[in-house]
Amino acid sequence: MKILIAADMEGVSGVVHWDHVDSQHGEYARFRRLMTGDVNAAIRGGYEAGADEVIVSDGHGSGRNILVEELDPRARLNSGSPSPLAMVQGIDSGVNAAMFVGYHARVGAQNAILDHTWSSSAVANVWLNGRVMGEIGWNAAVCGHFDVPVILISGDQTACAEAAALLGPVETAVVKQASGRMAAECLPPDAAQQRIYEAALRAMRRLREGQAPQPLRLPQPITVTVEWVHSEMADRAMLFPGVRRLEGKWTEFNVDDMLAAYRAFRTAVTAARG
Ligand SMILES: [Zn+2]
Repeated sequence: MKILIAADMEGVSGVVHWDHVDSQHGEYARFRRLMTGDVNAAIRGGYEAGADEVIVSDGHGSGRNILVEELDPRARLNSGSPSPLAMVQGIDSGVNAAMFVGYHARVGAQNAILDHTWSSSAVANVWLNGRVMGEIGWNAAVCGHFDVPVILISGDQTACAEAAALLGPVETAVVKQASGRMAAECLPPDAAQQRIYEAALRAMRRLREGQAPQPLRLPQPITVTVEWVHSEMADRAMLFPGVRRLEGKWTEFNVDDMLAAYRAFRTAVTAARG
């Protein structure tokens, strides 16, 4: 049994502000340690419940946040950026299930710590086949492309609810109750990590018993619709072949499958930011 732990930072225990997840800020050192702790809790649960192999992908920013020197020595770490599959790097290596640790809700969600979708400076919103999708949905759909279900999510209550609405019987570990975009009632790390560990145990049990969510497979071809923050971002996105302009800040394109959608969207966001 091989598990991929896809880790982000905004949904980590205690995080309520961009300063906490910004590598240039003095507070960041504390929170990358907490991120590593949340990931270790999921690794421990995974192994105790029967995993033979756990790989971790560091998906926040440059992918250089998790402290490898503090990572559970049984795991392997995908670090650095860009990697071919970004936040779910390694999902194509025979993985049986994925766990999303430290995830956040989609842009525009209410009572959601640091809600955004890929880039808060560039992406006002994004839809896959007409359905609004945040990073939970995008990454779950890439997992689904490889027939891999997402069995656990940790983050605030809104991120966990978003995952449950999209995926069905996913195990959730709510580590903070957001009361705004930058305010939450947080569990201390020991309590949060215990919750993640227990959710990982339950998720693995559900997987073994055939009760885990099905992989999220979107009908193909895939239509990607993006509302950009500024119209010049749409101008830049229009430089790619096959992109249509719907109106000032809106572009759309069609691709054959989810893997192509992910690559094209990542490329468009990078270009749009200039
Ligand atoms: Zn992030």
